[in-house]
Amino acid sequence: MVASEVRALFAVASRPEIVSLAGGMPNVAALPLDQIGDLAKDVISEEGAAALQYGSAQGDPVLREQICDYMTLEGVRSVPDDVIVTVGSQQALDLITRVFVDPGDIVLTEAPTYVTAINTFAAFQADIRHVSMDDEGVDADELDRALTEAAKAGRTVKFFYTIPNFQNPAGITMSAERRARVMEVCERHDVLIVEDNPYGLLRYDGEPQPTLYSQGEGNVIYLGSLSKTLSPGLRIGWALAPSAVRAKLVLAAESAMLSHSTFNQLVVRRYLNTFPWREQIKTFNSMYGERRDALLGALNTMMPDGCTWTRPEGGFFVWATLPEGIDAKAMLPRAVNHRVAYVPGTGFFADGRGRDSMRLSFCYPTPEQIREGVRRLVGAIEGEMDLRDTFGPAMATPTEGSQAPTPDLP
Ligand code: PMP
Repeated sequence: MVASEVRALFAVASRPEIVSLAGGMPNVAALPLDQIGDLAKDVISEEGAAALQYGSAQGDPVLREQICDYMTLEGVRSVPDDVIVTVGSQQALDLITRVFVDPGDIVLTEAPTYVTAINTFAAFQADIRHVSMDDEGVDADELDRALTEAAKAGRTVKFFYTIPNFQNPAGITMSAERRARVMEVCERHDVLIVEDNPYGLLRYDGEPQPTLYSQGEGNVIYLGSLSKTLSPGLRIGWALAPSAVRAKLVLAAESAMLSHSTFNQLVVRRYLNTFPWREQIKTFNSMYGERRDALLGALNTMMPDGCTWTRPEGGFFVWATLPEGIDAKAMLPRAVNHRVAYVPGTGFFADGRGRDSMRLSFCYPTPEQIREGVRRLVGAIEGEMDLRDTFGPAMATPTEGSQAPTPDLP
């Protein structure tokens, strides 16, 4: 296990003088905190000692029913029995990897992909293989080839991990046609799909796409989370899995943590029961949509020639690629001197790629701070371009198959 680059950055990025386009922290201050406080108080006064007792590892049954209702907003039909509550969807990733992956098994992911998923797969010694993406999502032909090659080599592919909506970090959403192709490829190769969808309801424009789960024949494990639509601090996520898999996940959860926080589940139960949470998601969407527009607008007007970036329809992230010869990782300390932070692309690949790229988050800073952040970022990039033009490209060739070391950040 290695410290993730995102984690190493938190210490720097949280300094008040820095505009952080780095972390993916939801703006929970937009929640009506007094009302959430009242809910928490009511849990103790009305549920009494039961709220402070052990619970089950599968999760509170009423909450699981509510989660099934919640998932209908994404067109997912489910029964509470097939849902396991997890400590954020992060725990679901851990449990799935624990249950399925033996050392050396292949796990396929998009390139780039969510940093802490990489760290989890690596902790269980998976052989992480990336499949490229274009602006419609993962390349289904390349996925097909990777599965064919693995089968020819007698290697086991345990699952394909995908974030189809507003992908972290690339901001890309898989098109409807691509989803159908991916389903066809994975079904033909009899490979399990892990569909991670924490951002799906945070859509600012465009049309919702059908989940892979709803198109599958039992070969998809679907992961959801309230971290982005309510609060990451309550740590409520879930996995929806065919019952045989779900039973194993519950056993793994029992050995990992015995029981969930009964109190947190009851707070969330009450929130989903009594609070206009659909309206709250609309409030989040208009706030995040404005921030996304601020970032895209600032990039459009300020970024130097040779930079490209994605245009997400939702979620928290834009993926930017720098002009040739500029190394986002090497630039970071100098960007911090310009009082702006981002996550260098290398953290989102298992094989050292991504030096020319960065993830920019728009969820936490205000639109004004975002515009100022981009101004500072452009200052840093132009400084690097001057250095490159004077001394030649500094970009080191990444070593194939090796995880680039986490930098010691100032
Ligand atoms: N998956 C993805 C794609 C994420 O971006 C995150 C959080 N950044 C998670 C899973 C984990 O979120 P949580 O455990 O808070 O539900």
